[in-house]
Amino acid sequence: MDCFASPLDERCAIQYTKGMIETKDQVEQLVRLTDKERAFDYDRDDLLAVKIPPHYAALIDGDDPADPLRRQVVPTDDELLVEHQVGLDPQDERRYSVTSRLIHRYPSRVAFLTTDVCAIHCRHCFRRRFTSSDQGPANAQQIEEAALYVAAHPEVTEILFTGGDVLTLSDQRLKEMIEAFRSRRPDLIIRLCTRTVASYPQRITDELIAMLKTFSSAPFYLLTQFNHPREVTAQAIEAVARFVDGGIPALNQTVLLRGVNDSVTVLQELCNTLLFNRIKPYYLFQGDLVQSTAHFRVPLERGLAIERELRKRLSGLAMPTYALDLPEGGGKVPLSHTYLVGKEHEGLWNFETVDGQVRTYPDPPTD
Ligand SMILES: *Cc1c(COP(=O)(O)O)cnc(C)c1O
Repeated sequence: MDCFASPLDERCAIQYTKGMIETKDQVEQLVRLTDKERAFDYDRDDLLAVKIPPHYAALIDGDDPADPLRRQVVPTDDELLVEHQVGLDPQDERRYSVTSRLIHRYPSRVAFLTTDVCAIHCRHCFRRRFTSSDQGPANAQQIEEAALYVAAHPEVTEILFTGGDVLTLSDQRLKEMIEAFRSRRPDLIIRLCTRTVASYPQRITDELIAMLKTFSSAPFYLLTQFNHPREVTAQAIEAVARFVDGGIPALNQTVLLRGVNDSVTVLQELCNTLLFNRIKPYYLFQGDLVQSTAHFRVPLERGLAIERELRKRLSGLAMPTYALDLPEGGGKVPLSHTYLVGKEHEGLWNFETVDGQVRTYPDPPTD
């Protein structure tokens, strides 16, 4: 059965079309379009289509052109800018693909592209080469070849169920996918990477959690993406609480976005709100080098200054790791202000404290 051709089949991706804002006319009813927003070309199929779910649309201030939620979902003509040397596959994921849907970039973990469908189209999407590419959920054969690969690679201890968004799959499809991997690898940790808790929280039902709980041989982790405190609504909090109460810890990945959250106070509030709601801030990502997203990227020096100030203000638990996924498949590296300044002399290290003082620390005595 081809789920893309029959999206209404109950075994397929749940019906996300109801109330979705996808056309220019629909966007125009939501917000008073600015000139830059009006200049986006809604007919070009080489650009990421517009898709705003009703829950998220309701959070947008239609009168404020600078609204940080609006900026994430309503495109502007900035997306038409062509950056030379910048492509659509910044992490060279195709080169690291070991099956049609499985990316093996790091020794101990793999990423599985469960579906290209997403409940929301973020304008900063870094996987634009794949998102909404009309390929639909992974079919039985694609799941099988990925599961066999993981079975043959015991060094892989974690799998990321990503996409697209894994929770656009029906419970039944997701269950079959989990079974395919866990029947071969009962010890495999599964990360459910999803933005639905922020964009479509009604997707998180008791039935979903009950289904996940039947797989108890290894843990699941929920990986959310909240980029702004206003996304952390009562419904989103409740959705995440279902996972956490169900024994699934929650971690958040934020993308650092110009005009959305490139502010110490906004990120401070976001991280504290997440932590309070039992979501551990995990990564703060520097923008990937992907076409149509230049206007969102924050200069590294500014990102580092924000990270430095956040470290002063946030608890260790609330502090995410600022990270960059290096171009050409270089992998993720942490970015941080450097507190280790150098060596006074052999065996004596110089440090800068968080508030700028100097300290030294000696190596242990040699014998
Ligand atoms: C980010 C990523 C992972 C996971 O990396 P962690 O640092 O463990 O969160 C795994 N595979 C791919 C391809 C990734 O991009």
